[in-house]
Amino acid sequence: MEYSSYNVNTPQWREITVGSHLPAELRKLAEIAHNLWWTWNDDAKKLYCDLDSELWKEVEQNPVLFLERINYEKLVALAHDENFVYKMDAVYSAFKKYVDVEPDHQRPSIAYFSMEYGLDEVLKIYSGGLGMLAGDYLKEASDSNVDLCAIGLLYRYGYFDQSLSMDGQQTVNYKAQNFGQLPIEKVMQPDGKQLVIHVPYADSFVVHANVWKASVGRIPLYLLDTDNELNSEFDRPITHHLYGGDWENRLKQEILLGIGGMITLRALGITKDVYHCNEGHAALINIQRLCDYINGGLNFGQAMELVRASSLYTVHTPVPAGHDYFDEGLFNKYMKGYPGKLGITWDNLMDLGRHNPGDKEERFCMSVFACKTCQEVNGVSKLHKSVSQQMFAPIWKGYFPEENHVGYVTNGVHLPTWCAAEWKKLFKDNFDENFFCDQSNQKIWEAVYGIPDEEIWNTRLKQKAKLLDYIKSKCSKDWLRSQIDPALSVSIFERFNPDALLIGFGRRFATYKRAHLLFTDIVRLARIVNNPKYPVQFIFAGKAHPNDGAGQGLIKQIVEISRRPEFLGKIIFLENYDMDLARHLISGVDIWMNTPTRLAEASGTSGEKALMNGVLNFSVLDGWWYEGYRKDAGWALTDKRTYQNEQYQNQLDAEAIYYL
Ligand SMILES: *Cc1c(COP(=O)(O)O)cnc(C)c1O
Repeated sequence: MEYSSYNVNTPQWREITVGSHLPAELRKLAEIAHNLWWTWNDDAKKLYCDLDSELWKEVEQNPVLFLERINYEKLVALAHDENFVYKMDAVYSAFKKYVDVEPDHQRPSIAYFSMEYGLDEVLKIYSGGLGMLAGDYLKEASDSNVDLCAIGLLYRYGYFDQSLSMDGQQTVNYKAQNFGQLPIEKVMQPDGKQLVIHVPYADSFVVHANVWKASVGRIPLYLLDTDNELNSEFDRPITHHLYGGDWENRLKQEILLGIGGMITLRALGITKDVYHCNEGHAALINIQRLCDYINGGLNFGQAMELVRASSLYTVHTPVPAGHDYFDEGLFNKYMKGYPGKLGITWDNLMDLGRHNPGDKEERFCMSVFACKTCQEVNGVSKLHKSVSQQMFAPIWKGYFPEENHVGYVTNGVHLPTWCAAEWKKLFKDNFDENFFCDQSNQKIWEAVYGIPDEEIWNTRLKQKAKLLDYIKSKCSKDWLRSQIDPALSVSIFERFNPDALLIGFGRRFATYKRAHLLFTDIVRLARIVNNPKYPVQFIFAGKAHPNDGAGQGLIKQIVEISRRPEFLGKIIFLENYDMDLARHLISGVDIWMNTPTRLAEASGTSGEKALMNGVLNFSVLDGWWYEGYRKDAGWALTDKRTYQNEQYQNQLDAEAIYYL
């Protein structure tokens, strides 16, 4: 006997396409969502949040995804809700008034190149301080109306998400980004297709890169991604991971950023006065720029003079080992076509990336190449300038380090992004109306003395209460996922004292940041956190690079210590440090702590974010804090190095930390 199973239990699939239909009255919501201006405008974020606060949380504050998910009936109703339409129109007209301003053509125009940009947590194309700086830089360029465009890469997986096992083992998770759900758009050609550029790799083959645009207020940021079906299986993943992959993939990424970046600008018809490499990763722009000038009829020497005169290189890395070096064989595999185009020999090209021209043992160093092809070089703080002059001294033989053309511009942060809404309101209500266009004007700041102390203190307490709520809800979620014993999590929160002095430490777990310093003397630390009169609590957060075993070990050690009875609820490690967590942490703690090895912190910026939220810094006099510290406004660990022996120095510094 036979039974036909047709149409029984098997699902019948058919494909449907869902389009988004925003009622015409609400199109402005989509327009606002597609410009990252909303990331630093609280009223814009509030507009979405007020519509459906649960959904807003669920989509992790991504307005593009929010509009895709929101209930259609609700939207139709809103389109006729006068109150809502009024609020939307107000935000929209503020937005239009802002973006419609022409860039200032009196000042030089700039093309800016960076491997990463920290613009918002929804756009996962950043890992740490370098990206934060680049993101804030674009936002500030927009506010100051500089004629600037930027180039970067669009990563399918970005940097990793971190989760921690019960015993503090870091697990690395990669989640693919759906580009259609991000606040970016395709750059279109006249034929209605997305612009795809062709970047030459090696001799005869090209890699296809899709061109996207993120609008950062008035600034266009063009992003390249190689996940194009015309590419081979080896090339599609070039832009999958930020700082993933091997050296070969890293070189392929840097070719894309530098050479592909210049090809993109040409395709878009963009030329600028100044070309700025944020870190050495982007320096290959100057290979392409040399080629372009030589193509136009100049010889190599003339082209080099023009390129140098219009290039700027910002170095962020104080240790030589942190710079990119490529083996000659690998470099040759992809770059061998260029000497012919430049009218030089292969050895000439290699020598542009060597400290000692002619030394065949030396690999090609991107930073050396950047120094040799950029007239201006800058470090990112006053101290870091001298460190960089020393570090690069071997390039310019016969000169003293202080004669080198290395200057400095101390890193800053974008106040409207990092300052909590309540503080911004306080400043707005009490300061001169020009404050947001003139933030470093001390005259304007003097009005702070006129604000009653209680008002300042209450603003602080409000931020702290917000952080505590955030920690509770985050930990409940995270700990459930990693199956932490419920009894343990209950006792952590029972012991957590909302009135204790709260000290925050959040940053990458690179060893030079010395997160371990606090744990040098556990017995003493236990006494400090359990002081009955002046209790102290610590919040830690940070990711370690997947290849950094020592950094991961450190995280594990801190988590283990935090589980000991005497530290329960006194030391908490929060998973997955990103911009969202940083914003809460930096504005909510009482003290922000930073204990790097001296001269290793090029600038650091998180302390500046803390400062603009009325949070005091406790930090080694290194990087920005060397310039920012004023007596009685925070705490400074000395800038003197007493011991050559690293371990002795750490002991001495730990002693100073406990004492302070
Ligand atoms: C500000 C910030 C950083 C950089 O902070 P540093 O003090 O330079 O270490 C890194 N990551 C995130 C998420 C940040 O917000």
